[in-house]
Amino acid sequence: MKIVRTTILPFKGFTAINLLGVLFVHPGVYLSHEMMNHERIHSAQQREMLFVFFYLAYLMEWLLRLPMRGNAYRNISFEREAYANQRNLHYLETRPHYAWRHYMKRRPHHYQHRKTINR
Ligand SMILES: [Zn+2]
Repeated sequence: MKIVRTTILPFKGFTAINLLGVLFVHPGVYLSHEMMNHERIHSAQQREMLFVFFYLAYLMEWLLRLPMRGNAYRNISFEREAYANQRNLHYLETRPHYAWRHYMKRRPHHYQHRKTINR
């Protein structure tokens, strides 16, 4: 995977962005094996969606999820697949094509902390 270190991309709040299989990352950011695996999963998604359909679907799903509960970005099915499997460094060896579609109906990921009940 080609890595380009720049202050221009990605936008504020993000550490890396994968555009057409090229990883743009801020200077000084440590790229862990997990992070690289996450980005490689996105590359696989992009290839099987012929790139253009990946970005269209990604944008559409993000827009649809904005008014929903939870973090819209984290709940995009492409992100759910990448976050759920980034720790499995052999995931891409066995990953079926279009595996992200299985993550569309999963329970939304949100950052609510469970309230502890004191009795
Ligand atoms: Zn991601």
